[in-house]
Amino acid sequence: MDALITSLVQAGFAPERILPRAPMARYTTFRVGGPADVLVQIASQEEIAVALRAARRCGVPVTIVGNGSNLLVRDGGIRGLVLRVASAFSAIRREGDLLIAQAGATLGACAQLAQHEGLGGLCELSGIPGTIGGGVVMNAGAYGGELSQVVRAVSTVALSDGAPLLFEGDALDFSYRHSAMMDAGVVVTEVTMELTPDDPDALRARMDELSRARREKQPLEYASAGSTFKRPKGLFAAKLIDEAGLRGLRVGDAQVSEKHAGFVVNLGNARAADILTLMDEVAARVRERTGVTLEPEVRILGEDA
Ligand SMILES: Cc1cc2nc3c(=O)[nH]c(=O)nc-3n(C[C@H](O)[C@H](O)[C@H](O)COP(=O)(O)OP(=O)(O)OC[C@H]3O[C@@H](n4cnc5c(N)ncnc54)[C@H](O)[C@@H]3O)c2cc1C
Repeated sequence: MDALITSLVQAGFAPERILPRAPMARYTTFRVGGPADVLVQIASQEEIAVALRAARRCGVPVTIVGNGSNLLVRDGGIRGLVLRVASAFSAIRREGDLLIAQAGATLGACAQLAQHEGLGGLCELSGIPGTIGGGVVMNAGAYGGELSQVVRAVSTVALSDGAPLLFEGDALDFSYRHSAMMDAGVVVTEVTMELTPDDPDALRARMDELSRARREKQPLEYASAGSTFKRPKGLFAAKLIDEAGLRGLRVGDAQVSEKHAGFVVNLGNARAADILTLMDEVAARVRERTGVTLEPEVRILGEDA
């Protein structure tokens, strides 16, 4: 990896934003995962192109992460280069009823600015703890809202050659926790949302109400990646898990949350292997009882230890 680091430094990357053997537990809300060979904190669009070029030249694979709030990184970590597109690349601007955000802006920050500007459409998403880049890839949603309802265009660059690629309209191909960007091999750089003028006080009240609801229902006191499994069509994963008697089931420090059976939480010292074993056990027991196959919503990355 020395050649990759040299190449990044020569291309002008600030050395303090190049992190060799970066522990992914620090960059994921599950707080598990072994080291990335090299992680770079992206601060500009140009740097994405530079990083991709360096990785190509050195023949190493590239992985993209945002806030790491939907990721389960295995204990052996991630080989090659990890591009972290988060707070260092997070400017948001308003143009009329459009909100245009760099990919690293959090959904919370987008919703706060929209509320301040009297623009509605993001209240339901305001408590989702990820970036807008990760959010559009996942088509994140909550309380009846979904990014697909407000996103009009997504600017990206191709991992293969750094070429710009714009996704608009039907080409975004949004569906439940899925988008065209998920399968396209691209880095999301900017997201354009079309919002609706609304009363700032009413928007604030709605955001506060939903934030209270989240704190009441979700085990926010523990590390997690949110809902572990996708909602099977017409059903709720949490209900199936609960009805199978799995609330509180534990493997090491990984536990099906006592508070919300849809969340696997890290009680403190869980390893990714514990979480994966628990997920397999939950899926097997639900399948045995109901015939329904639970699919992970969390994105699983990296190598076993
Ligand atoms: C407590 C808690 C509550 C949650 N509640 C919800 C909820 O209500 N609804 C919901 O939908 N989700 C929820 N989540 C899951 C998570 O917050 C969302 O999926 C979020 O949108 C992920 O964004 P991120 O920046 O953390 O992405 P990451 O987790 O870092 O990445 C997710 C995926 O997107 C890719 N990706 C990230 N950034 C980029 C980029 N710039 N370009 C290309 N690919 C990229 C990654 O490779 C990965 O495949 C919750 C998570 C937690 C911890």
